[in-house]
Order: sequence, then C-alpha cells, then structure tokens
Amino acid sequence: MLKGKMMLYRTNLGPDARSPAKPEAMARVAARRWITGTAQLTAGVLFSAAVPAHASGQIDLAALQDEAVEWVQQYIRINTVNPPGNETRGAEFFAEIFEAEGIEYEMVESAPGRGNIWARIEGGDEPGLLLLHHMDVVPADERFWTTDPLAGELRDGYIYGRGALDTKASGILHLATFLALHRTRTPLNRDVVFMATADEEAGGFFGAGWLVDNRSELFEDIGFLLNEGGGGSVVQGKVQFGVEVTQKVPYWVRLTATGEPGHGSRPLVSYASLVMIEALDRFRRYQFDARVIPAVDRHFKGMAERYPEPWRSRFQDLSSAIREPGVLLELQEYAPGLHTLVRNTCSITRFGGSEKINVVSPEVWAEIDCRLLPDQDPESWLAELQEVLGPDIEMEVLMGFTPAVSSIDTGLYETLREVTLETFPEASFVPQVSGGFTDSHFFRDIGIVSYGYSATATPAEDSGGVHGNDERVTEENVRRGVEMTIKILERFAATRPIMEEQ
Ligand SMILES: [Zn+2]
Repeated sequence: MLKGKMMLYRTNLGPDARSPAKPEAMARVAARRWITGTAQLTAGVLFSAAVPAHASGQIDLAALQDEAVEWVQQYIRINTVNPPGNETRGAEFFAEIFEAEGIEYEMVESAPGRGNIWARIEGGDEPGLLLLHHMDVVPADERFWTTDPLAGELRDGYIYGRGALDTKASGILHLATFLALHRTRTPLNRDVVFMATADEEAGGFFGAGWLVDNRSELFEDIGFLLNEGGGGSVVQGKVQFGVEVTQKVPYWVRLTATGEPGHGSRPLVSYASLVMIEALDRFRRYQFDARVIPAVDRHFKGMAERYPEPWRSRFQDLSSAIREPGVLLELQEYAPGLHTLVRNTCSITRFGGSEKINVVSPEVWAEIDCRLLPDQDPESWLAELQEVLGPDIEMEVLMGFTPAVSSIDTGLYETLREVTLETFPEASFVPQVSGGFTDSHFFRDIGIVSYGYSATATPAEDSGGVHGNDERVTEENVRRGVEMTIKILERFAATRPIMEEQ
C-alpha cells in the first residue's frame, strides 16, 4: 500500500541534470506535480537519497505481498488504454512510489502523454538485468464484463481489470522485487533496471522502440531482459511453463495495383481491381515452405507430452510429421497458433479501392499481415513474395523487424528453471517460440538476451481474458509471483540472501 504519498520527498536536483528528449513535455509533467504541492521537478531526472525507508537486511515478504496486491489494483485503475495510451499517468504512479522510497528514477515522454519511466539499482560488473513491462492496455468493452474493467475489483480471490494479465500484474512483480532489493540494500553483482514503457500494444514505437533509438546509453551494460510473452499456465490441473526465446517476425506489407480508370458501365479488359484480385488469388493458393527451426523443435518436443495421439508422436518428430501428406493442413485446423510456427505465413486483412460504386478506380490496395520464421532472411522472402504477386503489384513494407533468437544456455535461463521447478515440482518447463510479438525484439536486435517470462501460472480458463472480457489474475498468483521473482533476482543478481529461508 502506498503510504504518505510524496510528503516525505524533497527534490534536490541541480540545473545540470540530464535533459530529457522532450523538454516541453516534461515541463508539463513537472508543472502538474508542482500544482499538487508535493514536489517541484525541474527536469526528467529525479533524485532523493533522503529517505532510507527500510534498511534492514531482510525483506518482510508478507507485507510486501500485501502491498503488491494493492498496487495491482491501483495500477489497473489508472486508465492507460491505448489508443491513446496516456502512459504518463502510469509513469507518475511509479514515480510516486519511487519518491516515497527514495529511489532515483527518470521519466521521459516520447510524445505528449506517452510517458516512460525507469530506475536503476547499481551493482557489480556482470551484464545488467532489465525488468521490462508495458503500461498501456488494449480497450475493454464494458458491456461484456461483469465488472468495471478499470475498477481493479478484488472478488473471490481474483483481481479483475484490463491489464491484469497483460501486463500490469507482471509489472508489479517487477516493482515489488526491485523494492525488495532497494529496501534491503542488498549488494548486487550486476545492475538491475526497472522499466515501464508506453505503446507496446500498438508496436512500441513510443515506448521500448523509442528508448532504444533515443536513449541507447541506457542499455549499454544490459545483458539480460525479462519481459512478457511467457510464463505458466494451468491446463487440467497441470502446470506448464514456457520461456519465450524468440518470436515470429512481423512484416506488414501494403500492396498496390494501378490501371486505367473508367466508368462502371463500360468495363475494361483489365483494370486495377482485376489486377489485384488475380494477384491475391495466386497468393492465397501459394504456400510458403514448411520447416522446423531448432527453437521450434524444442518447443514442440517440450510440450508433446500433454497432447493426445497422434499429435504427441508428431510433435516429438515434427520435421518428419510435416512431410506427411495432409498433416500441415490438419495442424492448421487443429491449432493455428502452432501451425504458424512451422512456416512463414500471411493473412490478407485489409482492402480498399473505389470510393464510388460506379467509378473504376485507377488504384486499389490490400494489406497483408505476414509473420516470418525467426531465422528468415527478410530480403529473400520479399523477393519470393514479389514473385508470387507478379510484377504489376507494388509492395511497400509498413512495418518489419529483424529476426533474432535468444540462447537458453545462460545462467538466467537456468535460474528461471530452478525457481519455477522448486515452486511447481510437477511442472513442465520449455523454451518457446511465440507466433505474436512483444517489445523483446527491440532488445534482441541490440544483442540483449531476452526472455518472455512471468512468474505466474494462469488457469487456462482465464487466459481468454488477455485482450478479452473479464481479464483477471488470481491474488495467489500475485503473492506467489512476488516470492518467485525475488528468488530469481536473489540467485541471479544478489550476493547474499534477501529472504529468510521459509
Ligand atoms: Zn502485453
């Protein structure tokens, strides 16, 4: 629970503080805070060492867990629905906590309202660890919820609200752990950075992507990232954990066809609409080759156990299985989310043409959402795509990332495995490939080993709440997740225990 808000906080910032990238935007934040009368901020760097709140050597876990539950509720109540995002509100939520704790932090807006915040605890020379989550959430249609999506209601052991799973609870697990390190003054072998960003749900270009581009110095000594995208689920009483190590690479492409304009009453032999239809017809019948990359092979082998035959045997030897006639189509029907992991894919999602029914437009367009395997060379894939569509279609890449896979041969992966299996001895634990994408790709691009992992085990019946209705997280997951995340940091970054042996 937040106590005393910012009353204890006094800023002692000098004029030499690093200036944020958007001085006007920060000035607005500062002005708003000034009006509240709690702190006068003059720039994006805040500093306070005046409040050594809890200097004891060990953490009071139960009290921290209580705080975490309260924080999840409070965080959900902060409206960061994207669009428009308004993540500055979320950043201010964390800023207040950091101020009360006497933690130095920095807050920057990439655009008006699009706040990002981070804080660092310095440690030894080992590569730093970044705890990342995004503050924005997708919209929620209240008509289909049994509670106000922004109320943070605690009911029957669940905290309800948009962002409960994606990804405000994870952010609070990071926060609680970060505070545990700070409060106990635990000496660290590496820097640990807490970071909360804007805009993930719309691509991250005002959040993680912006920071990587504009504040690259923040990541210079960072070697590891923990982010959303993996974690635990409970299916028919069995706990399954997956660590996301790579993801399919989105390529969003706009296709354009041009031709003679005319009147709908006098059809031409060829015109833009027909060129596009013919191209898309070739495209829909085209299949990109299927192949099993090593990360996908490990993913399927790791989860084969829990599938019924014939899938179990097929997943154990996926490369052979996908060469059997009909199996790929069968897989696509059975589990589209798994099928997508064995080939480059595209969905045709948008079209546009004439504004008027009787006008033959000189230009028509379509957009396709393609996802490439993580080892695909995008240039050669684009050439393949152009070949299929034909020379009359112009292609424009609207968004495309670079492919990258994080190694599992690291101390952090091993620590995640150890702590997970100590907590859930019966659980499966496998590296995973995600068909969707998160902000992790920005960090894999700059050489940071990035894992999608949240220390929660979400009941399968609740997973539909991600971007769906009645999104909720169990209170138990928050409490247990705090303990697990502390254990992970205790082993990977601390030089002495920070919790009593239970
Ligand atoms: Zn998310």
